[in-house]
Amino acid sequence: MIVVLAGPAGVGKGSIVSGLLSSRSDFVLSVSATTREPRESETDGVQYYFVSEEQFDRMIEDRQMLEWAWVFGLNRYGTPKKPVDKLQAAGKTVILEIDLDGARQIRKTAPDAVQIFIAPPSFDELEQRLRGRGTETEEQLSARLETAKEELRSQNEFDQVFINDELDKTTQEVLDYILRRKEENERSTGNR
Ligand code: 5GP
Repeated sequence: MIVVLAGPAGVGKGSIVSGLLSSRSDFVLSVSATTREPRESETDGVQYYFVSEEQFDRMIEDRQMLEWAWVFGLNRYGTPKKPVDKLQAAGKTVILEIDLDGARQIRKTAPDAVQIFIAPPSFDELEQRLRGRGTETEEQLSARLETAKEELRSQNEFDQVFINDELDKTTQEVLDYILRRKEENERSTGNR
């Protein structure tokens, strides 16, 4: 099963994913490829595969991407297809932490994927969280906030929206929802 987790930058998707991964050994996060520069705390192959523009071009040409998008108009990010196929074949629940554009592509290529949107309690709160994180320049911050406005308008395209007002509670709600969808899925495949 594929689970798409979308929502604006700074909303806490990363923390929710960490919580999901630590409570379920059958959940795996797909590692994306990106042309963005690594942050100080990041390691190649862990948070992302950090690739050059040319490598990213080649991955697209070779049809190695399940989806890919320009994010914040600054860099490209994409989901390598092969690892997702392998993990799915091994019975894992594969989480894709991707942007709105990517989520829309997955809706076409993997219509059975569970589509979840994580929303902030308010736009002001999102801005405060992003600023508090201190990982972006002012230019990057305004690009992320502009994109966030568009993403927030798209919420109703998703199967389910969770407002991340309290991390532990939201993580539990997301987990319960995924498990419910998995159960429904298994029941309907079993009935076929
Ligand atoms: P960051 O630069 O903060 O690590 O990630 C920025 C945004 O890129 C994330 O909020 C996420 O929505 C998006 N993103 C990360 N990986 C992918 C991917 O593989 N595909 C797409 N479409 N978006 C991604």
